[in-house]
Parts: sequence; structure tokens; C-alpha cells
Amino acid sequence: MEIDKIWLTGRFNPAERLDFIEVPMQYCDEPAHYLHRDAFRSWLELYTAADKAGIRLEIISSTRNFERQKRIWENKWNGVTLTNGVNVSTDEFTDLERAERILKYSAMPGSSRHHWGTDLDVNSVEPEYFETAEGIETFDWMHENALKFGFGQPYTAKSVKRRFGYEEEKWHWSYLPLSLKLTEAYPKLITYEDYKGFDGAQTAASMQVIEHFVLGISKPCLPQEL
Ligand SMILES: [Zn+2]
Repeated sequence: MEIDKIWLTGRFNPAERLDFIEVPMQYCDEPAHYLHRDAFRSWLELYTAADKAGIRLEIISSTRNFERQKRIWENKWNGVTLTNGVNVSTDEFTDLERAERILKYSAMPGSSRHHWGTDLDVNSVEPEYFETAEGIETFDWMHENALKFGFGQPYTAKSVKRRFGYEEEKWHWSYLPLSLKLTEAYPKLITYEDYKGFDGAQTAASMQVIEHFVLGISKPCLPQEL
């Protein structure tokens, strides 16, 4: 399948793509999760190995297309949902401050790795869960074993090695054999002209969404040439 702007920016319905499959319910928290079939094939192998080790893995987020990400983003932008407990739509914040706050954990539509069908969230998106015994055990197992099945953690803790981008996400894993190719293609095919069709899109260039967020990922998730 050719990597194009449509795939990179999530402007499609995953249910209508032949290279995506609906993940069987036993692996998910709810119906209608989609993944690229290559990513799911490897996930099954990883899942089986984890299961044998007594580790429970449940997919709680998978492919989210542009429309879905637009709803998440605009709800925060317009104060329908809170952003880390704060309504960012009040006069207190400039547009750039609004974008900056939302971008701590939520991607701008068109820039999410969840558009690609290669990335998924497991068990919980609450950092606190990964401080519980089960959360620690799960993360430690993934940290130790996921790469054997092609899965890497793009959003590691912030450090000199990863200065920009989202905060640490211990729940987010990416199928690298495919997502490395998509990451490499992204800055070649997508420009800030492509950021349109949602509230707050005008902040994308100033926030350096491509350089700091799409490419603000851990070293193993970055193609060598970037
Ligand atoms: Zn995620």
C-alpha cells in the first residue's frame, strides 16, 4: 500500500480500507477497534507471549481518523471538555497557549500517529495506573519484550534525548516496521498548508507541530535519516 497524504493525515474510514482489520473483541475494551493488518498480526504474537507471562494487555485506543481526532481536539479547544482540568477556551489564554496546553497529551488533527493504524494504547491512559503494581509489571514487560515483536514506545520520558513533543505515555506503542516508513514520509509529503479544517489549525506552524510533535519521538521510533 502506497503511503500518501490521505493515510498520513487520517482522512479515511478504517472500516473501508482493505489493509486494515477490525480487531476481535477479546483483545479490546469495546467493539470497532481497527489496526493495520500487519500491525495486528504482530500484536497477536506479542499478546500471546505476554499472556503466557501472566501479563494482561487490552487495547483501549487504536486507529482514530481525522474526524475523530478533530472532535477530541475541538472539544478541548472550545472548552466542551477540560484540558488537564482546565477550560482553555476562556479569555485567559491566547490561541497559542490553548494549543500548547492541549498538545501536552492530545494531537492536532492530521498529526496523530493514531491515524496510521500502527499505534495503539494499552490498559489505561492515566499515568497513575502505571504506578500501580499491575501497571508497573505491564510496562516493565513491554519495555523488555515489545521490540522483539516490532513495537516501540514513541513517547518516552522527556530528557535531553527527547526534548520536544507530548509528555511521557507508557501506554502508547507503535508497530515500527510500518510506522518508521510513515514517519519518514510525513515531513516529505505534509506541510503546514495541509493543516486545515478544524478550529485552531492556524497555530500548527507556530507550534512547530511537525518538527516538535510528529518528529518529537524516541530514537528507536525515528528513521535514521531524520
Ligand atoms: Zn496513544
